[in-house]
Amino acid sequence: MSHVFTAPAIASVLVAGSAGETFPVHRIYCVGRNYVEHAVEMGFTGREPPFFFLKPADAVLCVAEGEIGRMPYPSLTKSLHHEVELVVAIGSGGRDIKAADAMKHVWGYAVGLDMTRRDLQGEAKKLGRPWDIGKGFDHSAPIGPIRRAAECDIGAATRITLEVNGTMRQQSTIGKLIWSIAEIIEHLSAAWELAPGDLIFSGTPEGVAAVEAGDALKAHVDGVGSLQVQIVAR
Ligand code: MN
Repeated sequence: MSHVFTAPAIASVLVAGSAGETFPVHRIYCVGRNYVEHAVEMGFTGREPPFFFLKPADAVLCVAEGEIGRMPYPSLTKSLHHEVELVVAIGSGGRDIKAADAMKHVWGYAVGLDMTRRDLQGEAKKLGRPWDIGKGFDHSAPIGPIRRAAECDIGAATRITLEVNGTMRQQSTIGKLIWSIAEIIEHLSAAWELAPGDLIFSGTPEGVAAVEAGDALKAHVDGVGSLQVQIVAR
């Protein structure tokens, strides 16, 4: 038995503080509307069970610490939005994981951007269609190096921020997550069997807005790291 063509490379993310170690990506899960103020700015009450969507693993745009990743402005949109998020990297999988046991499945954390073609997502919502074209496009998941959980210091007061061209656009704290990391893992693993290599984008705080080609984005989560991305014309 052999493949009929060369199998594509496995998407992977750098490991922070390592000499070139990488974290192979299995799936990318994303949590929708997980900060109250963002849910409100999108026209919702902020009180609903968590819901999920996925991006393809190869939507990852892996950016090293201190480097500036280049994200091509995607096709078909006139409204490319930034969503800064804490990304949870799963190291051991499972089904029906309870929140009380969830944190031992976490390998590490990273800073990510859930880039969104907001106009296409809005159209899909209006028509009751899937979100994939708005959320799951190529290069839609820029991500910084994954830091091992034991090296991270994440608590309720941990700040998550995003600057565009040096101006603060999004700032909040991890304590404002509606559903905690452990609760997200409980809900997710009831719906899918989690596996090593899964990434979970845990949701974005308020302040999402459009970026243009040429804009410089700097995302940061205290105790985890930073991610810099420049949007470039296609
Ligand atoms: Mn998001």
